[in-house]
Amino acid sequence: MKIVETLEKLSNACGVAGREDEVKNLMKKFLKPHVDEVREDKLGNIIGTKKGKKKSPKVMLAAHMDEIGLLVKTISKKGFLQFAKIGGIDDRILLAQKVIVYTEKGPLHGIVGSKPPHIQKEEERKKIITYDQLFIDIGAENQEEARKMGVKIGDPVGFDIKFARIGKDIVIGKAFDDRVGCSVMIEAMKRMEKTSCTVYAVGTVQEEVGLRGATTAAFEIYPDVGIALDVTVAGGVPGVKEVEAPIRMREGPSLTVADTGLITHPKILRLLIDAAEENKIPYQLETGLPGSTDAARISLTREGVPSGVISVPTRYIHSPASMLSLKDAEDAVKLTVAAIQKIAKAF
Ligand SMILES: [Zn+2]
Repeated sequence: MKIVETLEKLSNACGVAGREDEVKNLMKKFLKPHVDEVREDKLGNIIGTKKGKKKSPKVMLAAHMDEIGLLVKTISKKGFLQFAKIGGIDDRILLAQKVIVYTEKGPLHGIVGSKPPHIQKEEERKKIITYDQLFIDIGAENQEEARKMGVKIGDPVGFDIKFARIGKDIVIGKAFDDRVGCSVMIEAMKRMEKTSCTVYAVGTVQEEVGLRGATTAAFEIYPDVGIALDVTVAGGVPGVKEVEAPIRMREGPSLTVADTGLITHPKILRLLIDAAEENKIPYQLETGLPGSTDAARISLTREGVPSGVISVPTRYIHSPASMLSLKDAEDAVKLTVAAIQKIAKAF
């Protein structure tokens, strides 16, 4: 399967943090042909292992399977659903979105309700409507019918967006943060020849709510090197200053120098830069972005694990639909494979 097909399947699947089952099943299936063993740990992380020689360095790749989303909080007497937010969601992007409520009885389509402009007062139009004033309309007549349809408190809700290719190498879709990292990881495992590293390809859970899955997986694996495969904010769009988001789509994967949770270990940063330059892979360097990745937690495991981040520049992350270049994803795969070859020699 090509990386674009893997990404399409993973992007269309539901994986609101803590409810990653659909993505997990795909990850197991996609990793299996390219590793010696796939297993799920106690918290739910999916770990694919490619064994190296005995006493070879252990490398942990981490790509998170979860996405931001909503959870049903209350079902009103009239059958409308109020919700809690999971992960960093800007209230302004919720209004009028098509969503899917994932119930035990199956998915239900709905709309985040809004007041039509015809009946809004002048001052209402200028105000941001916070998420707790919003509701999901699933077309139920009342609470009883909503329950019969299968809705329960705590059901996850995701955005109803289908993957699409809109240009030669440009795609749009849901949850590219971090299904593109998952796709890069699978593709890298596929292309990786037997190395003298033992490589753990970990699909982590609950990253968006505090890097939780990576914390437990790294404790168990206790790698010599950690690399998070994730996305970063791609600027270069109207209204975004270069100093706010200097990384650009189509200019190669981004290597984190430092973010809120990680200062990349100098040895790892050097190794990643050398791997890119020796293989003529374009790359960008990034620092000062608020937020962090699984690498932050991996790096603080036990007595410390030198860690770094390879990100695919992605526009409009943490919104219902985002955009990226397949060429950047492809270069992230090449860089991951090249980096692991170097780790085998350097560690
Ligand atoms: Zn992410």
